[in-house]
Amino acid sequence: MKIPVVEMGECVRCGVCQEVCPRVFKLNDLNYIEVIDMDIYPEAEVDEAIKTCPEHCISWSL
Ligand code: SF4
Repeated sequence: MKIPVVEMGECVRCGVCQEVCPRVFKLNDLNYIEVIDMDIYPEAEVDEAIKTCPEHCISWSL
């Protein structure tokens, strides 16, 4: 299964991924991005977040 991962060292916590794909990405109380556990991730939405992330720090782990 493909799982989206965020390279936390690169993430600037801009929140764009959460805006684009709120079902998967969530800024938590500490203002860090979390990938929400899902059985199957919505591929098109995650791809959109990958494309939109200004730091290019989201990818699929295969
Ligand atoms: S869009 Fe990229 S840089 Fe912005 S919060 Fe999401 S993972 Fe971090």
